[in-house]
Amino acid sequence: MWRPWSKRSEFGSDRRGEPRRRWRAVLSLLAACVMLGMVAVVASGWFTRTERLDGGAIVVRSQPGTDGRSRVAARTGARLALGWSVRTSGPTPRDPVEIRLANRGRCLWLESLDASAWSGTDLTGDDFVCVYTRRPNWRASMAGQPNRALALIAHETIHHVQRSLGCVDDPGRFRFQWFVEGMAVWGAGRTLVDGGVWTPAQADREALHADGPPPRRPLRDFETSAAGGAYSLGRFAVADLVARRSVRHLWRFCAAVGRGRPWRDAFRSTFGIGVEDFSRRFDQSR
Ligand SMILES: [Zn+2]
Repeated sequence: MWRPWSKRSEFGSDRRGEPRRRWRAVLSLLAACVMLGMVAVVASGWFTRTERLDGGAIVVRSQPGTDGRSRVAARTGARLALGWSVRTSGPTPRDPVEIRLANRGRCLWLESLDASAWSGTDLTGDDFVCVYTRRPNWRASMAGQPNRALALIAHETIHHVQRSLGCVDDPGRFRFQWFVEGMAVWGAGRTLVDGGVWTPAQADREALHADGPPPRRPLRDFETSAAGGAYSLGRFAVADLVARRSVRHLWRFCAAVGRGRPWRDAFRSTFGIGVEDFSRRFDQSR
C-alpha cells in the first residue's frame, strides 16, 4: 500500500535541517509565484477593460484611465476600414481586429517602438493594433483633428486584414514594402472618403500632411525599406495599380503571396505587368 507519510519519512535522516529546508522551499515557491504574476501582468500590459463589438469582429481593450473619445475613435476607425475591406472583396479576417489602447503601460512587454500606433503580433501569436493614447500624434488628433485618429486606426486595421492574408513581411525581411504601406495609406483615405468623413481632396491633403511629399527616388528603393517613401510614394503607386486593375486586385495579390507564390510572379499575373516594368513606368510618369 502506498503511504505518502511513510514516503516523506525517507527524507528524514537529518530531521533538524528539515524545517529550514521546508521554509526555504515555501519561500522559493512564493517568490516564483510573485515573479510569474508580475510577468503575466506586465506581458498583458494592464488592459483591464474589454469591449467586443459588431458580433466580435472588433475588440477594443484599454488600460485604466483611457479616455472615452479614444475608445470611440478606435471602434469607428476599425469599423470603417472593415466595411471598406468587405466592399472591395477583401477577406473577412479569421481573428477580430483587436485594438489595444495603452494609456500608461506598453502594448507589449519589451517593446521600444515610439510610434503612436502600429500593428503587430504578440508573444502568443495574436495580431493586434497598438495605440499609445498619450503620445503626441494621438493627443494632437484627439485635441483638434479626431478624423486623423480614424485614419490612423483605419491604416492599422488594413494591415490587420493584410496580415490575415499573409502578405505582411516581418521587419528586416521586407520584399514589397511600398505595396503594403501604400495600400494602407491609400486604403485608409478611401475608407474615410467612403464613410463620408473626408472628401477625396481632403484625403490627399491629409496623406501629404502625415507622410510628406514623395521623395525623388525610384520606387524600387522602397521594396525592402520602410522609410517614408514606402508610404508617400507607395500611396501613388497603389493608386496606379488600382487604376490599372481594381481594388480587389490588391487583395488578390496579397492572397497569392500569402499562399506562398513568389511575389514577382504574383505581381505580374495579378496586375498584368512585371514589377520592374511597372516601377520604371511609374518613375517616368512622375
Ligand atoms: Zn503602415
